[in-house]
Amino acid sequence: MKKNQRKLRLAKRKWAPYDPRVNGVSYTMLSTFLTCREKCRLKIAGWKSKSTGLALIMGDLCHKTAAFYRILIKDKKIKTVITKEEVLGLVKLAEEKWHEQNSRADARTLENFELAAGYCRALMPMWVAHYKRDPFKRVWINVEDYFNVPIKITDKLTIPIIGLQDGVFTKSKLLRLNEIKTKSRFNPIVHSDTIHFRMQNMMYLIALWIGHKRLPHGIEYEVIRRPGLRRKTTESFEQYMKRCEDDVRDRPEWYFWRFNVMVDEDELEAALKELKGLIHEFYLWWRGDLAHYKNTEQCEQMWGACEYLGICSSNDTSQLYKIGG
Ligand code: SF4
Repeated sequence: MKKNQRKLRLAKRKWAPYDPRVNGVSYTMLSTFLTCREKCRLKIAGWKSKSTGLALIMGDLCHKTAAFYRILIKDKKIKTVITKEEVLGLVKLAEEKWHEQNSRADARTLENFELAAGYCRALMPMWVAHYKRDPFKRVWINVEDYFNVPIKITDKLTIPIIGLQDGVFTKSKLLRLNEIKTKSRFNPIVHSDTIHFRMQNMMYLIALWIGHKRLPHGIEYEVIRRPGLRRKTTESFEQYMKRCEDDVRDRPEWYFWRFNVMVDEDELEAALKELKGLIHEFYLWWRGDLAHYKNTEQCEQMWGACEYLGICSSNDTSQLYKIGG
């Protein structure tokens, strides 16, 4: 017991002020822990990349635009599908919000932002037009809502799960979760085979189940594809974006996917059991009772190098900054 208390003190000193019992665990934290424990430690210690990639920025802008639209519907500020110009107004709001939240963005990030914003302007008016009146036929309970739901891991240990649900609604009185993903690579067959047991989906459904004290009926999982067209050397940025917009208009079924997956109580119980096991493992690691190691299999990935490669390979922090540091 004394040994454990000493380890806990050491762990706390090293990773203060984070404590999963107080701050909770998010899906991102758990998936990073599964990817590489060193990466997870560096994140917890507050190290962040100075640059943000195109995929993250585009996801952020599309999510913000979708949320602004749904909030207007939820608050009954609009009664019918809005025009392209009105959607572009929401994209503009999303861009302003992004700038507010990313005031220290570096030059590479701003370059990625310009491209991401262009894609978002090409996609979102068509996304609104594609689903027509469907968002109006549901009762939106929450849009972009943070959850913080305590999970009893053992008799003496409770850890909250935290996150942001894109949307919670009822349709035909059935409670459902909506999740939006923006993707450049996406295989609909693999997706439809995995949606009903992906960790993030199940974690968010569990949060809905426990948080609302009501069994959710399932998840509506949406994918918005990033245009894959390459910019020609002879094309201006505006011409390229016009070509992307035309492509989205010509084949919306390629860009916008929606999967509806039902879950039952047994599936949620089984997912909760697995989630508790993972959170417990994470907690034991955090307090120093499970091994810490680097997973070098994850240093290089399909979309590039891990953001912490510099620090791991040569203690180079020039591409990083430390929150509060
Ligand atoms: S560079 Fe490799 S070892 Fe280091 S944090 Fe990233 S994945 Fe882990």
